[in-house]
Amino acid sequence: MSTKKYEFLSLGTVNAPYMPALEAAVEGVLHSGRYIGGPEVSDFEHKLAAICGCTHAIGVSNGLDALRLILRGYIETGVFSEGDEIIVPANTYIASVLAISDARLVPVLVDADEATSNLDTTKALAAITSRTKGIMPVHLYGRICWDENLEKAATQLGLKIIEDNAQAIGARSSFAGLNGSHTTGSLGHAAAFSFYPTKNIGALGDAGAVTTSDTGLAEAVRALANYGSDTRYHNIYRGVNCRLDPIQAAILNVKLDFLEQENARRRVLAEIYGTHINNPSVRLPRNDGEACVWHQYVVHTADRKQFTDFLDANGIGWDMHYATPPHMQPCYSRADSRELLIPTSLEVTERLAAECVSLPVSACTSPEDAHEIAGIINSFKAS
Ligand SMILES: *Cc1c(COP(=O)(O)O)cnc(C)c1O
Repeated sequence: MSTKKYEFLSLGTVNAPYMPALEAAVEGVLHSGRYIGGPEVSDFEHKLAAICGCTHAIGVSNGLDALRLILRGYIETGVFSEGDEIIVPANTYIASVLAISDARLVPVLVDADEATSNLDTTKALAAITSRTKGIMPVHLYGRICWDENLEKAATQLGLKIIEDNAQAIGARSSFAGLNGSHTTGSLGHAAAFSFYPTKNIGALGDAGAVTTSDTGLAEAVRALANYGSDTRYHNIYRGVNCRLDPIQAAILNVKLDFLEQENARRRVLAEIYGTHINNPSVRLPRNDGEACVWHQYVVHTADRKQFTDFLDANGIGWDMHYATPPHMQPCYSRADSRELLIPTSLEVTERLAAECVSLPVSACTSPEDAHEIAGIINSFKAS
């Protein structure tokens, strides 16, 4: 048995190569005498809009707030109103669903597509009612969720498509989105980003952003995040304070320049796992090329306890994304039909949750490590 340890993720290791540049960036803010807004935040916003190919990016406090601000922005501009239904994948991190609840809209949970773990868009179309106003595809694990069904929902049925892009910054779709761009963040009408430290591009604290090419929505989101103020001491909305911290913006300006390298590194590891893991007990994720940035590399196995015990015994770090889906969390377990709708079986979501195991795919894992991990996994035998 090998004694080498394969770490799942260590943020110190991830950020080590950036330290001198991060120190300089933070020091710049420290000595600037300006600690809210300022050039770091606007530079960040320009960089992110350019990456996505959209007109507006607004730096905000975190990914959940980014989603909340988009939904609230649509309410304030008269596009959504209380009680409207928003379709969201049942197989997601709970933040996607919480944002909809928080805006007093009704989350409609739709099952996953087994082949991608993402929203089954055919089932999503079938779940549309006269109260449905939007769909929130989540690009889970870094894999784009975008196809002709979502395009149809937007162009023929007039629904708003809100990307939860917390996990897929820089992924490129073979389909053009609604704005003609192929990059996540500009496929739908609006998108939420998270720069939580473990994301592909992580801040050193909480940070997030909203992107859109809808100028009305962008103005509403910017005002809402700043006390509802459109100009100084003039409040058009009962807003909140969800601004992006300029220290985090300065950090992100350093790291965003390495987005392509960071995503390419993950693709190399996924490619190694995909070609070298060959074990009938372990189902591998599909390789979608440029359309996946591998925020997580998630395999599925019916023998999960045995498999994770085996990984532990071999020093291979792992995690689960996510073992309990939102509808099975205590906060939603007694929700009624005004709070949450589940129009179809969530059988695929529940099976994925019972079988998922995430393998190491961060900067802590070298290509050699990935080869070794694949070899070890090939010797796993479920009894
Ligand atoms: C991380 C994440 C969020 C929330 O982002 P925070 O910055 O942690 O608030 C939302 N949705 C998904 C899919 C996420 O992975």
